[in-house]
Amino acid sequence: MVAKIIDGKALARVVRQECKERAERLVRSGCPPGLAVIVVGDDAASQVYVNNKVRACHEVGVKSTLFKFPAAVSEDEILVRIRALNQDDAVHGILVQLPLPAHISVRKVLETISHHKDVDGFHLYNVGSLVVGNSIFPPCTPYGVQKLLQSEGIAVRGKNVVVVGASNIVGKPMALMLMQQEATVAICHAQTRDLAQFTILADILVVAAGKPGLIVPQMVKAGAVVIDVGINRLADGSIVGDVDFDGVRQKASHITPVPGGVGPMTVTMLIVNTLESAERTHGVAQADSALVNA
Ligand code: NAD
Repeated sequence: MVAKIIDGKALARVVRQECKERAERLVRSGCPPGLAVIVVGDDAASQVYVNNKVRACHEVGVKSTLFKFPAAVSEDEILVRIRALNQDDAVHGILVQLPLPAHISVRKVLETISHHKDVDGFHLYNVGSLVVGNSIFPPCTPYGVQKLLQSEGIAVRGKNVVVVGASNIVGKPMALMLMQQEATVAICHAQTRDLAQFTILADILVVAAGKPGLIVPQMVKAGAVVIDVGINRLADGSIVGDVDFDGVRQKASHITPVPGGVGPMTVTMLIVNTLESAERTHGVAQADSALVNA
């Protein structure tokens, strides 16, 4: 079996077209959607991610405002800015690009963002909503994975799902979202003994560990759906995921490439959450969408 490649770029294009229409509707209703992006320091990867987000907003007609702070900025200054953005009616989403310098408390920063504008879905209120199955803003990366599965018609209910990686931003929310859809979910992490004994059982394997080559064909059940969230830059400058793509592709039924799989959907779902926030705030009806509202 050679797996079908799940094309995240193509799906992102479709969803972004829908986003464009939603943004235009908001503009016509007198409430243009707005996203504020805060970035601290000059971490190269953060600059790339932020620029991608700003560009994607521009393409669909969401007004993004970038606030750049030097690495030495005080925590207080960031919190003051967030509080001002919380009060700004033109801002429907606030995103603070992580990681932050060590002297700034990530927890404090995330808790200061109004949960009504927490389009990354990292505020405790939103995390709690996810736990009870009532998500306000689903975290963008797992949300993107969910849309990729839906777009391929891959049913989740009753399936064995293994999530490799247990971070707060990817692995844990991913597991919660899949459990909400009645999958049987196992979560593995760096201390898991004999990872392969878990992964081999997966009908759907989601890998978000940040370890290139972690998943090899022997660890994958024939016909499994393999979603590779990992993004790793190799010494030669190339970008790869956590899965041995060429090997696993011979065994899986579906697989996401890196780049071009989950990544484009993460940025797209940030826009979806921002539009959702603007529509909720202004009481603008959402368009019918097979993909976004599914
Ligand atoms: P993280 O470092 O916060 O968490 C990594 C998780 O993987 C931890 O739970 C850790 O215990 C686990 N892990 C590490 N080594 C392991 C091993 N050998 N076996 C099993 N589990 C192991 O990372 P993160 O922020 O969750 O990101 C994970 C990966 O996903 C990274 O490569 C990151 O760049 C990528 N990522 C991609 C997107 C996207 O849009 N595609 C978004 C976010 C993160």
